[in-house]
Amino acid sequence: MRFEGRTAVVTGGAQGIGAATARMLGEQGATVVVLDLDESRSRKVAGEIPGAVGHGCDVTDKEQVDAVFERIGRIDVLVNNAGITRDNLLFKMPFDEWNAVLTTNLTSMFLCCQAAQKVMVPARYGRIVNLSSRSALGNRGQANYSAAKAGVQGLTATLAIELGPYNITVNAVAPGYIATPMTAATAERVGSTPQEHQAQVAERTPLRRVGQPEEVAAVIAFLASDEASYVSGQTLYVNGGAR
Ligand code: NDP
Repeated sequence: MRFEGRTAVVTGGAQGIGAATARMLGEQGATVVVLDLDESRSRKVAGEIPGAVGHGCDVTDKEQVDAVFERIGRIDVLVNNAGITRDNLLFKMPFDEWNAVLTTNLTSMFLCCQAAQKVMVPARYGRIVNLSSRSALGNRGQANYSAAKAGVQGLTATLAIELGPYNITVNAVAPGYIATPMTAATAERVGSTPQEHQAQVAERTPLRRVGQPEEVAAVIAFLASDEASYVSGQTLYVNGGAR
């Protein structure tokens, strides 16, 4: 029960890595707040976790973010997990897809970190974990997503410097291919089943399989725990050894 007495907010928590993280933090004693676009989906996941609550919140909308964080009050752990992909080669990428991916994956973190530090700084305690991606290193068809996820690493390193004096750690987790609704949608876009797509990725992954949401959640939980009290400004890759 390493999160006993702690309040943890997970954005994009209604499915995939976010939902697995919310469940894991809840199982380990945290009072969990699930935020996602759709209020009823947030509440459904929260309903499976003792003491958890779910709210609808579009994390790209400053007014919604400020309002929901004010409503939550105390926040010890913030997991900035909400994210989207809109894959396209550069010459075909509409400007609104560039913008949507930058806003959802990166600007949302600025908004949530800014709202959370208002309570973390006076409390002299905080654990922030941001979802980056292996794609931060470059991935064909993901100029928008790669740029956003590389930006997440820069934001993480900088906030670790700014917030460190207040006993707040800021780290990023960069998953490789994880079996979630996001990657199932990618498979569908390229005309594969999720199983076929996963098998192709597994072939070029040293561990010869794709990752599961719980395997990322475990790393997020470590970085959010007191065991990681002297780890800050880092990006931890969770990618089965893939390059
Ligand atoms: P999913 O698409 O399965 O889940 C993401 C959740 O975020 C969805 O419930 C989605 O809602 C929600 N969301 C999207 N936009 C917003 C918003 N503006 N405000 C609030 N919630 C929002 O993704 P994963 O679980 O696969 O990924 C989670 C994180 O991990 C993301 O940041 C992703 O980029 C990152 N990641 C994932 C990898 C993978 O292989 N799966 C690899 C590397 C990184 P809705 O469904 O309604 O859009």
